[in-house]
Amino acid sequence: MFKSKADKRTLRYRCVQPTESLLHGKSFRWIENGGKVLGVAHCDSVHCGKPTVFKNRGRYVRSTTLDDRLGVHILLDVLPQMGITTDVLLTDDEEIGQSTASDFAETIGTDHPYNWIFSFDRKGSGSVVYDFTTMEPYAKHYFKKVHRGSFSDISYLESLHVGAVNIGAGYHNEHTLNSFADLRETQKQVNRFANFYREQRETMIEHTPIETQWDSETDFVYRGSRYIWSSYSRDWIPEDEHEEYANLILGAESPIDEEEVDRLTALNDPDEMDLEQEIWDASRLRQMIERDESLRLMDRF
Ligand SMILES: [Zn+2]
Repeated sequence: MFKSKADKRTLRYRCVQPTESLLHGKSFRWIENGGKVLGVAHCDSVHCGKPTVFKNRGRYVRSTTLDDRLGVHILLDVLPQMGITTDVLLTDDEEIGQSTASDFAETIGTDHPYNWIFSFDRKGSGSVVYDFTTMEPYAKHYFKKVHRGSFSDISYLESLHVGAVNIGAGYHNEHTLNSFADLRETQKQVNRFANFYREQRETMIEHTPIETQWDSETDFVYRGSRYIWSSYSRDWIPEDEHEEYANLILGAESPIDEEEVDRLTALNDPDEMDLEQEIWDASRLRQMIERDESLRLMDRF
């Protein structure tokens, strides 16, 4: 997975595929496959004011949409190829703090029989469980590290009363022009997920939601702390950490810069590089898809 030309082309397609096409023009898309577990990914991205491009550099790929089109790719293309069938929820507007996962939660009500929920919507490795405390022992066991995070799609799904985990997808520098993914890291995380899924898909991981009070469009109170929307980090940040976090983001807008990625890329096997440095815009890619039967089939998703 992630290595062949076909896999790379599929990922490239997911990175530039128009959101309307992924969501079939709706605000969210629920794909029911008879799964007992629900996978979630958001289709919107922080584009940094530039058109979406995709560069293949062997082990590394670059695109501003990897957060979270890499997650979309894992759910729609990678896991099914590994024989893992989950239901899928694709959302929109996650990056502006208004994920349509909340519309889904309203539509589905409280008692849909999912055993647990997951997403691949986080940089690097490890995982985050937010306030899904019953998920923590599983996250520790299968993903080794449990980091702190404030909010993402799955946080809007507490009303389903089951545990959820956000898994590192192997992308880095998200929300910047230097956004890239280390696909070896992605593969490791997917393998860890496969173990988790195979051993625990029948385990109901219950969760009791904590009441969230919304005070305004830009802040809310959760478990006694006030969270404020940060336009720097595009994330909900606890009030007491807000200033520190804004400084961190301002000071380190691209922790790994383009030169650094080029240096890393130089270590690649030249055989992996034959698709490299191509820049694809959506219209060029669409022409390519029209010529390619296997990719056209993906439009059913
Ligand atoms: Zn994301």
